[in-house]
Amino acid sequence: MGGGLIGGTIALRLAQQQLRVALLDGQTPGREASWAAAGMLSPAPDSPEAIPLVPFGRASLALYPEFIAELEEITGRRTGYRREGTIEVLFSPEAERELSTLIALHRGLGLSAEPLPVDEAHKLEPALGREARATALLPDEASLDNRALTGAVLAAAAAAGVVLLANTKVTRLLREGSLCTGVVAQGETIAAGHVVLAAGAFSGGIEGVAPAAGVRPVRGQMVAMSNSAARLRRVLRSDRGYAVPRDDATPQRLVAGSTLEDAGFDKRVTPRGLEQIFSAVQELAPGLAAAEVVETWSGLRPDTPDHLPLLGPGELDGLTFATGHYRNGILLTPITAKLVREWVTERRVSLDWERFSPLRFAAVQPQEPQPSLKRDKGTFSART
Ligand SMILES: Cc1cc2nc3c(=O)[nH]c(=O)nc-3n(C[C@H](O)[C@H](O)[C@H](O)COP(=O)(O)OP(=O)(O)OC[C@H]3O[C@@H](n4cnc5c(N)ncnc54)[C@H](O)[C@@H]3O)c2cc1C
Repeated sequence: MGGGLIGGTIALRLAQQQLRVALLDGQTPGREASWAAAGMLSPAPDSPEAIPLVPFGRASLALYPEFIAELEEITGRRTGYRREGTIEVLFSPEAERELSTLIALHRGLGLSAEPLPVDEAHKLEPALGREARATALLPDEASLDNRALTGAVLAAAAAAGVVLLANTKVTRLLREGSLCTGVVAQGETIAAGHVVLAAGAFSGGIEGVAPAAGVRPVRGQMVAMSNSAARLRRVLRSDRGYAVPRDDATPQRLVAGSTLEDAGFDKRVTPRGLEQIFSAVQELAPGLAAAEVVETWSGLRPDTPDHLPLLGPGELDGLTFATGHYRNGILLTPITAKLVREWVTERRVSLDWERFSPLRFAAVQPQEPQPSLKRDKGTFSART
């Protein structure tokens, strides 16, 4: 259920095990969060609650080179995968102290991070703003074109025999006692030996999922620009926003974001949202003020009460959760698909995913969501 990057990659992995797989999507597959994202592959935690996710993020980042090579070989499509690293930029008067915390936190979590004198950062990225007070290089971070990646995954899944059913919205699960036996979609019954929930921010809307999926949408607005003046090689990121280069062409394509908004399923782009993005981006790279805005859009991150994903079995046999990836679903796709494939075919997983069990919310009352942070990625310690 759900033909985004998560559901598409799981379907691919299961079909490669000779299973008969149908991928059901309520609309055209791959047009929700997986289409809307910035495509940063950053395992750095952006809040204290995200620390349990770091080993998963690292494992997933490590799977990426092979995943991309495999997709490019199967489909002949490029995915814009770039392993150029990220420069984290600090602007506050406390920047030097924040930099030490950031470096220590990264290293403590097994993530590479190097303090970068600001003049060195300007040599690496001449477009970087003069107001930067401290910078760190995160050399292992990567980025990609998530729209291209999602398209490649869906093409590879189809080539592996997955039946893609567009405009096939699942309304409820079929169950016999504690066993999930299939789904009802568009009024039709589809029997299945195993069902995977990968409906992103919409995962809470399917009747019969147990425990109820507790996923809620968090809107993020985005901007795409075409830019000749302020070329970037790496991702530039501050605690207010980011700019992600998509290519090395002239003019260069890049995307910038984002907002974190509680707006239900409303995907409007607003002046306030754009203003927030433009101001963050111009602080990072003032030359971008002259870039051409070529597209604006927004997407819905699948958030959960503790901002961690829902992975693994729930209360029903034959139903596996793979949702709630919030701000990290692009990064976490390869590891999620690997573990779900292992679980469905072998009933074991090679990385402990108990911490992300959907059952952690089964016994408690629904929690109020934690206050939103300001951006997609970044290191919370830089602000504490
Ligand atoms: C602005 C923004 C920036 C982001 N930046 C990053 C980033 O830089 N790095 C990163 O790692 N992550 C990022 N994310 C998060 C990432 O995009 C998501 O975590 C990820 O795409 C979730 O993938 P998914 O396949 O679970 O969900 P989706 O891509 O939303 O796919 C869910 C699919 O399920 C379908 N569906 C829904 N309901 C039903 C139903 N009832 N029946 C059938 N189908 C259904 C939908 O049509 C959709 O195709 C960002 C997200 C946003 C919005």
